[in-house]
Amino acid sequence: MTAPKIDFEQREHTFVLKNVRIGIGFHWDRYENQEFQGELEIKRIQNPCVQGGEPWEVAVNTIDLEDYLCSVISSEMNANSPMELLKAHAVISRSWAIRAMQHPNHEGYDVCADDHCQRYEGLHRMNERAVEAVRATKGQVLTSTKGRRTMYESGKTAEEICDCRYHKCCGGKTEVWRTCWEDIDVPYIQSVNCDYCKQPSPDILRLVLNDYDQETKDFRDWEVHYTDEELDAIIAQKSGLDFGHITSLEPLHRGASGRIDSLRITGTKQAAVIGKELKIRLWLSRSCLYSSWFDVSHTDGRWTLRGHGWGHGAGLCQIGAAVMASEGKSYQEILAYYYANSRLSTAAQ
Ligand SMILES: [Zn+2]
Ligand SMILES: [Zn+2]
Repeated sequence: MTAPKIDFEQREHTFVLKNVRIGIGFHWDRYENQEFQGELEIKRIQNPCVQGGEPWEVAVNTIDLEDYLCSVISSEMNANSPMELLKAHAVISRSWAIRAMQHPNHEGYDVCADDHCQRYEGLHRMNERAVEAVRATKGQVLTSTKGRRTMYESGKTAEEICDCRYHKCCGGKTEVWRTCWEDIDVPYIQSVNCDYCKQPSPDILRLVLNDYDQETKDFRDWEVHYTDEELDAIIAQKSGLDFGHITSLEPLHRGASGRIDSLRITGTKQAAVIGKELKIRLWLSRSCLYSSWFDVSHTDGRWTLRGHGWGHGAGLCQIGAAVMASEGKSYQEILAYYYANSRLSTAAQ
């Protein structure tokens, strides 16, 4: 890998970053130019994924949290979405961001701009409705006394801001924390049935999904087909291991929604058990499978994965929440539906 150089153009009140990569490693991976407000600093940071080598240039944008959220909610979902969806998203994106700043995952900056953290694609997908949703929920976060830190770290029962995870489409049932991340129970990330994302109308999807997300057509129920040679090549490339010829893919454990979090891959040369859900999605696709909720069949030299949903499935289902909002549910009702054991609070500013 060669260290990329930051290409940018300073404008009067904004700056434009050229060829920003978005959806890194996912099926919508691409480059676009993005315009931002706030301050730009070019930092040089050692890429943790590259041993040794030159430090990489990164563009670091310093911006007010509420301004950041206007861009995030219109990057995650279309800014023309129903207002109650945008408000619900503002609350969970704010909650997530405050927690992320308290528990940093990156060196040199608080959050990255891609799906690893939250999408932050600048100004061009934003409109006054996104600004209104952020303003109407100013400072509001979800909190819980049954949180991760209080129950598992300190043992106290203080109110804490929820780590509000979310995803595109649960596929019919949301997932629990331990299927995706650490082996803990997070009481506000429970599995709930979600009929809302079952059959979203094409009109709703056109309204609530951003341009490049509209290219993903079959996310609720999907099929992926590989020949033997294709699957062997994908797994060899993604794992860096020589399994020989793959003879079986065996789900060993599934989470509450049906997402596989432990999968045995057996080849003619070796076998391995892998998890959790994201690693399984990455190893079984040239980019990343929509989800790890799938069944496997293998006949006549052909593999078929039949699956459901798009994303890890934990927390709020964005398509389901959009449908709830279009049916007249308030953002408070949407949040209560997807985050049990939580309440709406105002964070100290
Ligand atoms: Zn990140
Ligand atoms: Zn759903």
